Amino acid sequence: MPSCIALVVAAGRGTRLGATLPKQYLPLAGKPLLRHALETLAAHPGIGGVRVVYNPDDAAVLARASAGLDLLPPVGGGAARQDSVRLGLESLAEFAPEQVLIHDGARPFLDHGTIDRVLAALAEAPAAVPALKVADTVKRADDGRVLETVDRANLWRAQTPQGFRYRDILAAHRAATGLDLPDDAAVAERAGLAVRLVAGSEDNVKVTTAEDLARAERWAAAWLGDVRTGQGFDVHAFGPGDHVWLCGVKVPHDHGLVGHSDADCGLHALTDAILGALGAGDIGVHFPPSDPQWRGAPSHRFLRHAADLVAQAGGSVAHVDVTLICERPKIGPHRAAMVARIAEILGVDPQRVSVKATTTETLGFTGRGEGMAAQAVATLRLPL
Ligand code: MG
Repeated sequence: MPSCIALVVAAGRGTRLGATLPKQYLPLAGKPLLRHALETLAAHPGIGGVRVVYNPDDAAVLARASAGLDLLPPVGGGAARQDSVRLGLESLAEFAPEQVLIHDGARPFLDHGTIDRVLAALAEAPAAVPALKVADTVKRADDGRVLETVDRANLWRAQTPQGFRYRDILAAHRAATGLDLPDDAAVAERAGLAVRLVAGSEDNVKVTTAEDLARAERWAAAWLGDVRTGQGFDVHAFGPGDHVWLCGVKVPHDHGLVGHSDADCGLHALTDAILGALGAGDIGVHFPPSDPQWRGAPSHRFLRHAADLVAQAGGSVAHVDVTLICERPKIGPHRAAMVARIAEILGVDPQRVSVKATTTETLGFTGRGEGMAAQAVATLRLPL
C-alpha cells in the first residue's frame, strides 16, 4: 500500500489556447506540457504512484505524453474540474493511500522542494497547500473603476500540488459534489479541515493562455541552457536466427544478432550517447553483462533508464541521431518505425529523432556481413 499517491488533473479541454490539442498536451521544451509534472512526480521518492485524471477522448495523446513513465493506469474525469478530482479520488480506493497530492497538469515547473514542503506539512496537518504572498497592491473594481484597495497583508496565492489525508479529502469531495469550488483546499475548508500553507514557488506557474505558454517556453530555454553532447558506438556479431532487433523494431533477417541482451546495437549506441552527455558512465556500468537479470532483456529498458536519468537531472533530450552500419538487412523500409519507437521510448517529438543507415562498401567486418555496428549522438539540455 503506497502511503502517498499523486493525482494529476488533466481532463480539461483548455480551449483558451485556441489550439487543436488540449493545452496540457501542447509541446513545451521538447515534450508535452503535461509530461513535465508527471516526470517530476514519478521521480519523487515520497510518492508511491502517479495517476492522471484525463478525458478519454485524449487517450492517444496521453499515451504519447506518458510513454515510458511508470504510472498507474489513467482514469476518466468529469465535466468540471471538481468532478474530475472526485472521480480520481474514488478510483484510488483500491490502493487506500494514507495521503494524496492533487496537482494541476497545467503546472509544468513543479520542483521536488515544493513537494517536500507539502509532504512535511502533511505529516502534521490534514491539508497542506503551497502558496505565495500577494506582492502587488490589490484593487477591487467594477467595470474598470476601482471600488476599493484591498488589504493584502493576509492574502496568498494558492498553487498545487495540494496535499491531503486521503480519507478526509475523499469525504470532503463527496460532500461537495455539484458545487463549484475554486480548488481542493476550498473543498477541504468547507469540510472544516485545517489547511496549512507552505512556501510555494514562483516558477510553479499555471499555463493557461498562449502568452503563458510562450513565456514558459522562454523560461525553459533559459533554464536548460547547459547543452551537452554525447556519442555512443556499439557492435554485435551476426549469428543464427530469423530476425534482428534494431532501434526497438523487430526486423526479419536471415541471421540474428548475438549478445547478452536482445543485441539491439542501435539502442545500445544511443543509450551510451545519452549516458555520455550526462557524464554517467556507460551501459555496462548501469546494466552489467555479468548480471543474469539482463539476459535477453529488451533494450528499450536501457534507453528508458537513460531517459529517466535525464529527467531526474531536470533536463530534456533535444535531439538524437543514430547511424546503423551494415550491408544487410535493408534499413530504409523500417526507418520510420524506428524513429517512432525511439521517440516513444524517450517521450520526445519524433522530429527530435533521426535514424540513418550506411554500408561500408563491402569493406571490413560489416562489409563482410560478420556483424553490424551503430553510432549515435545525443544532445541534451540540462539546467544551468
Ligand atoms: Mg551492445
